[in-house]
Amino acid sequence: MIDAKEVADRVARVRSEISNAGGSEVSLIAVTKSFGIDALRAASAAGCEGVGENYAQELLEKVRDGLPPIDVHFIGALQSNKVRSLAGHVALWQSVDRESVVDELGRRAPGASILIQVDTTHEPTKGGVAPELLDTLRTRAESVGLVVKGLMTIGPTDGTPQECEKSFELLRRLVNEQGLSVCSMGMSADYRTAVACGSSMVRVGSGLFGDRVRVAK
Ligand SMILES: *Cc1c(COP(=O)(O)O)cnc(C)c1O
Repeated sequence: MIDAKEVADRVARVRSEISNAGGSEVSLIAVTKSFGIDALRAASAAGCEGVGENYAQELLEKVRDGLPPIDVHFIGALQSNKVRSLAGHVALWQSVDRESVVDELGRRAPGASILIQVDTTHEPTKGGVAPELLDTLRTRAESVGLVVKGLMTIGPTDGTPQECEKSFELLRRLVNEQGLSVCSMGMSADYRTAVACGSSMVRVGSGLFGDRVRVAK
């Protein structure tokens, strides 16, 4: 059960930590994967700038439950065959990291806003385009009519603060080099470090809603 008051308190706490870490105008995306529609409603009521969902099927179930008024960001590994059913529900596609997905988005969600996910850790499960291939993917995305708003990365799992900084400083540098505005980095465990490194958008799940029950998907 989600307690909306508790979520609002945690949102306030995360926002104050963001400001202690030197962040101003940092968007807070509440990651609602594995939680029910109540979590999206609580995030909306608490004034989060968006909710993040990872799984197509789960998001479509929540659409059927009736989404509250809040932007939905797709933050999970995105398969091109899922794009068609999700287009129309997603305000920002955060995890775009390959040509097949770019091309499918260009066909099914023309003009959509995206972030390109960059691999800053060399951890194979994380996804993301290699920094050397970023230019090529961006050019491709723009050539099919997508709007590249910025970049996204997932920091190292159980990384030391130094390892996290290395990953986040790389993303910040790439965002600047590309002349983009959105720099999406930082999760429950590392958002303070990410903000200190110049994040403009953090994605926080367990820090707002508690631990997720692991589900096999
Ligand atoms: C699950 C997830 C998050 C949130 O993780 P927490 O540790 O619960 O804050 C953020 N970003 C992505 C891409 C995720 O998959």
